[in-house]
Amino acid sequence: MQKSPIFKLNQNENSLYIKREDLLPFSFGGNKARKGQKFFDDIDKGAFDVVVTYGSASSNHGRIIANMAKKRDLPCIIISPKEASKETFNSEMMRFLGAKIIVVPVDEVSKTIDDLILELKEEGKNPYFIQGGGHGNLGTQAYVECYEEIKEFEKQKDIFFDYIFLASGTGATQAGLVCGQTINNDKRDIVGISIARPNPRGKEVVLDSIREYLDSLDIEYNEKSLLENTHFTDEYICGGYGKFDLDVERVIENSFKNYGLPLDSTYTGKAFSGMLKFIEKEKIVGKNILFIHTGGTPLYFDYLRESKGDVEND
Ligand SMILES: *Cc1c(COP(=O)(O)O)cnc(C)c1O
Repeated sequence: MQKSPIFKLNQNENSLYIKREDLLPFSFGGNKARKGQKFFDDIDKGAFDVVVTYGSASSNHGRIIANMAKKRDLPCIIISPKEASKETFNSEMMRFLGAKIIVVPVDEVSKTIDDLILELKEEGKNPYFIQGGGHGNLGTQAYVECYEEIKEFEKQKDIFFDYIFLASGTGATQAGLVCGQTINNDKRDIVGISIARPNPRGKEVVLDSIREYLDSLDIEYNEKSLLENTHFTDEYICGGYGKFDLDVERVIENSFKNYGLPLDSTYTGKAFSGMLKFIEKEKIVGKNILFIHTGGTPLYFDYLRESKGDVEND
């Protein structure tokens, strides 16, 4: 995967920078493109003839995997929860890319995947399974590499980011960044703004990914500093996955108007809004702050199509 650019967004009480993972040059980019590339590097090494994954109708991961599979003419099967099957630009693209979508109630997802893989194997196929969201060590590895890109930028520009903020879902993106921090022994705060999961589970899932990755490479770490380095806040969830409030809407409108920057209401807009509140609450001033735009541009268009555009702006 190519590198994504870092830009300075504004200079108020803090200097705010943004890493545009949404500009990664494949299928509207985003963290799922960076992670997906790792899985397909692995697929390209083997003799796989079908790709199976999990994702809802709004899933950026589903779009990316469908696109990467299509590029190789590999059949792609996506198990999708019935509870989140409303058409979106992402689901339209998955269909356009020829992915086979199997919709089942969410509590049947796990069994459906197991049965499908078994069935494919019985047919003599060699399926490759990718966890929802591109979770797992390969996904984590993708964000260790992203962390190295950030270090490179800092070195070139002679700057140090005191804080890194990002939208945290399954936690693999954050886990990769914290692993990068751990490997480099850097002192800074990486703050995951939960977009759905409450604590303590939310943080625990991030920690599990970190330990799994570091253990797989026999990298030694200090459990205490790992706990200290993993900041996962569930204060800005707005009631759950996909839900948002007026502040999130304002942030989305203002960021597009002022910076031409698309943010969505499920991930990046919610995280950006959460970051601004966190900065205010913690009285953070005079710091260099990096926000990671984790992508999801098609969701911005879903938002536009649905919002009434009646939010008051300053
Ligand atoms: C999936 C996704 C996230 C969350 O990433 P995790 O690695 O699951 O924490 C954040 N932002 C966008 C745009 C996403 O699509």
